[in-house]
Amino acid sequence: MSATSETRLRQELVRYSLAMHAAGFVANHDGNLSVRVADDRIVCTPTAFSKADVTLDDLVVVDAAGTKLSGRRRPFSELVLHRAVYDARPDALAVVHAHPPFATAFGAAGKPLPHPFLPEAVVSLGAAVPTVPLTPPGKPAADALAPFVRRCDAVLLAGNGALAWGPTLELAWLRLELVEHLARIAHAALPLGGVQPLPADMVTALLAARARAGLRAPDEAGTPTPPADPVVQRAAAQAVSVLPNVDRQVAERIAAEVARSLGR
Ligand SMILES: [Zn+2]
Repeated sequence: MSATSETRLRQELVRYSLAMHAAGFVANHDGNLSVRVADDRIVCTPTAFSKADVTLDDLVVVDAAGTKLSGRRRPFSELVLHRAVYDARPDALAVVHAHPPFATAFGAAGKPLPHPFLPEAVVSLGAAVPTVPLTPPGKPAADALAPFVRRCDAVLLAGNGALAWGPTLELAWLRLELVEHLARIAHAALPLGGVQPLPADMVTALLAARARAGLRAPDEAGTPTPPADPVVQRAAAQAVSVLPNVDRQVAERIAAEVARSLGR
């Protein structure tokens, strides 16, 4: 990764730290964000720091094992959770953790988030936002998280807020934000009798749309592999033949996206 890209990602880290605080997702020193800028290089927010006050100078760089490489501050101890994600998901380049009040309330109350109840959220998050059981912090927490990481893109952590990840910091953040929004809606619906689960056949169709959009988590349950669209396959093959440096999967993704935007 070029220095320019890392500079941009560092700026994003600061921006989303401030956004996390502004959204009311954290208090005190809660919350942490990280970006994997290279295989053995993770830039993260410092420990014991309000997310309202993080500046570029406060960011810390660690290696894949969590050992500090540079920065004048110390990394946060929940980095073990971020590393559990990075270890299991090569596609994950950013992890965010916060204590957004409604999502955190479900985890703290020992109640699962009643997802899915909004169709769009299935495309964004899949059919599961599971709750990782309560453990002591540190390695036990990372071990408890590990079995979930390849099956979804966001979890509630019992007694410890929510954690989300993605190929970009923006997507990880949007997932965290959506989890909190769903928890807020589910809570608002409680006096009305609670949210209604989506019909199973609708969830199946939405999961297929999620897979077509390239959003499926590697070991996500209940997601049928969508049948290959011959037009998309042909377009991808043609793209690769004229642009040999383009990865076939990437070409298929682009072709599928173009086909979708054209209403196929
Ligand atoms: Zn926490």
